[in-house]
Amino acid sequence: MSYEQGPIRPPSEAESLFVRVTRNCPWNKCLFCPAYKRKKFSRRPVDEIKADILEMKKEVDKVKSYLSKFNGADGFPREALELIYRQEPELLQIALWLFRGGKNVFLQDGDNLNMPAEKLAEVLTFLREQFPTVERITTYARSKTACRRSVSELKMLKDAGLTRVHIGLESGHDPLLKYMDKGVTAEEHVEGGLKIKEAGLSLSEYVLLGLGGRAMWKGHALDTAKVLSRIDPHYIRIRTLAIREGIPLYEQYQAGEFEPLDDDGLALEEKLLFENLSGSSYVVSDHMLNLLEEVQGSLAHDKPFMLGVMDSYLSMTEEKRANFSLGRRMGIYRYLRDMNDMGLFNQVEGVRKRLRDEGKDIAQFLTEYKGRYV
Ligand code: SF4
Repeated sequence: MSYEQGPIRPPSEAESLFVRVTRNCPWNKCLFCPAYKRKKFSRRPVDEIKADILEMKKEVDKVKSYLSKFNGADGFPREALELIYRQEPELLQIALWLFRGGKNVFLQDGDNLNMPAEKLAEVLTFLREQFPTVERITTYARSKTACRRSVSELKMLKDAGLTRVHIGLESGHDPLLKYMDKGVTAEEHVEGGLKIKEAGLSLSEYVLLGLGGRAMWKGHALDTAKVLSRIDPHYIRIRTLAIREGIPLYEQYQAGEFEPLDDDGLALEEKLLFENLSGSSYVVSDHMLNLLEEVQGSLAHDKPFMLGVMDSYLSMTEEKRANFSLGRRMGIYRYLRDMNDMGLFNQVEGVRKRLRDEGKDIAQFLTEYKGRYV
């Protein structure tokens, strides 16, 4: 590949084109974060980013020359994709992007508002010039950094083409933010989020279920609800904590200092959060680590439905909850209703009973199993 790519992107940007603007995260201290493995943060020079964009443009033109061989076919025929894969596999990423519409771009890495606003605006303008049909350009940013930007700087970025900012809010509970070394306070989360909205940008806030563990789950749920209700972002995206070796929090987990919530605890925490949440945000549960993927919809209209999903899980018998957790974590179930498929249900029951007969603690098994996904 003749242009640089970063390691991560939000699930909702899986089909976007990735343009790396900075490298890694300027904070890089959060105890739960697997993202950049303590690599050093740097801002890429604007000329270097522009050179990458021009390389991408060249690849777009090459892909389009393949498409011209399929005259008369509508859009981007699958046969063209297969031909590119056989003849120039290095074009596949760009080809797939165009195949999926070629409308969205995600700027990597973890905190691009850290770049001087004029420079980021220059990148955005150049990107829009090279790809005039792009409709959405998004980025990750930290609330703390958004606080340091003036609304007029954020407006400048919007005018240059930025559409949406994804923020890892994680929690609105100050003792937990401090414990996890998130480097931001609840008040700064609110200030940063409101500034982004005031600038006319779309705002997406990520919540990390389970972050409070057994010690702080109530404070995490209640204060996160408070902070999100004050910000009222366009999107609230749900994620769930997973712990594995290599993440700083793993040490606290091993020492017994941080006790993770089991799936029943996660559902109770999510319920407390939603009972206290208000506003007009659209809730998205787009991560495979979330226990209840069907918790999704408009907070203004679908809150009873979303709370109903949590109640459906919590009102099942202990055996059925264990069956669902296991099936969900092993990728056998996606939704609660999948348990009605007796073939799937019995498959999971077989595993559950075997673990029980072997004397395994299912909650611990699931905690460690989840770590495979981060
Ligand atoms: S600010 Fe975000 S990317 Fe940076 S260390 Fe924390 S969670 Fe990871």
